[in-house]
Amino acid sequence: MKFALVNGEKTEATLGAKGICRACGSDLIAKCGEIKIHHWAHKGNRNCDPWWENEKEWHRGWKGHFPVDWQEIIHRDKNGEKHIADVKTDQGWVLEFQHSYLKPQERRERDAFYQNLVWVVDGTRRERDIPQFKRALSEGAMISAKLKIHSVFSDECALLREWVGCRASVFFDFAEGNKSKGGSLWWLLPWSPGGSAFVLPFSRADFIGLHQTKPEQGDLDFRAILKILIESVSRFISKSRAQTRAQELQLLAQQQQFLRSRGPKSRPQYSVRKGRRRL
Ligand SMILES: [Zn+2]
Repeated sequence: MKFALVNGEKTEATLGAKGICRACGSDLIAKCGEIKIHHWAHKGNRNCDPWWENEKEWHRGWKGHFPVDWQEIIHRDKNGEKHIADVKTDQGWVLEFQHSYLKPQERRERDAFYQNLVWVVDGTRRERDIPQFKRALSEGAMISAKLKIHSVFSDECALLREWVGCRASVFFDFAEGNKSKGGSLWWLLPWSPGGSAFVLPFSRADFIGLHQTKPEQGDLDFRAILKILIESVSRFISKSRAQTRAQELQLLAQQQQFLRSRGPKSRPQYSVRKGRRRL
C-alpha cells in the first residue's frame, strides 16, 4: 500500500518507519528497498484485502494524478465486506488501476461491489496485446466517425476477450503519449450487445481532467459523456437491425419473384409426371 497511518496521518513509506493499516488496524512495516516501489506491508506480506495487487510505477503514476485524500479509500458494503479502492473521486467514481490478469469471477465481484466503477487497464503488460488490439481495430468497422466509435470483434484479441461484457467502463492504457499526459486511452464501452465490443480513443488528459475536477455548469461530466456514447451505439444497432430487416424483405421479394417467374415453365413437367402416373 502507498499509505499507512502514522500518528493518525495518512503517510507514505519511508525507511524504518512503522505505521498502522487503515483497513484492518494491523501494524505495517515500511518497505523501502531498491527493487520494488516503496510501500507498506503487513507482517508476513499477507494483505488484509485479497483484491490488493502489488503496485508498480504504473499504479503510482495514475494514483498521483489525484489528490491524496482520494487515494486508497476503504469501502465497506452492508455485509461488512471491506476493500481498498485505488481512487475515489469527489463525483463518486471509483477508479481501479489494474496491471495483472484478473479472473472473470473476481472482476464481476468487483463490478458488483463498487457501484460506480471505472477500470484503467495496463495494456503494455503482454507484448501481444497492442498488435492484437490494432488488428481488431483494422478488421472492425467505424460506426460513428464523429465520435470515433469502432465496432470490433473480441475473439482474436485476448485483452478484449477478457474485458468485453464488463458492466463498468474499461480504459486500456497502451502508454500512448504517457509522459506528456497527451495521447489517448482506448475506452471499451460497458455495453456489448450480441458480444460485439465498442471502443473509441479518449484523450488521457480529458480522462484525468474529467475525474479530477467537477465540470463547470453546462459542461459534460463523465456520466453524461458515457450516456451520449451508449445512445450513439444504440442508434447504430437499431439502424443496422432495420437495414438487415429491409435486406431480408428485399431477398424474400426476389425469391418470390423468381418462383413466380419459374412457375409456368415447371407446369408441363408436372403434367407429364401426372400423365405418366395415370397410365
Ligand atoms: Zn490491513
